[in-house]
Amino acid sequence: MVDHPDKYDYSRAKVPGPLTLEMEAKKLEKKRAQKAQRKQREQAQREERQRLEKEEEEKQLFAALSDREKRALAAERRLAEQMKNGSTALSNISRCWYCGESLLGRIPFHYLDFSFCSTACLQTHRRAQASHT
Ligand SMILES: [Zn+2]
Repeated sequence: MVDHPDKYDYSRAKVPGPLTLEMEAKKLEKKRAQKAQRKQREQAQREERQRLEKEEEEKQLFAALSDREKRALAAERRLAEQMKNGSTALSNISRCWYCGESLLGRIPFHYLDFSFCSTACLQTHRRAQASHT
């Protein structure tokens, strides 16, 4: 109709009006905007669903922890907070519980929750623990 304004009798054919390129562009633009909006909405819903799923997962995971593990988690969190606020930043917390020697790259000696650089440190610590109780 735009390209051949006199070729056909558009009013008799009940063609509503010339569909100009501008109108077409606008229509396309509107469609694109709606599509983007829908996508955004879907994305938000997906994120919300994932958040709920994650929360549920964490809930179950936490509930399944032993009291000792829960306490350890809480202590870890407290320590992390302290590190953030304070100036003492321990970049490596994998250390001998007795002398503080780094355990990175070593095979540490364990008893209970404790790790040590040597059997000497382990035994000294264990003796100290035993005398406490
Ligand atoms: Zn040690």
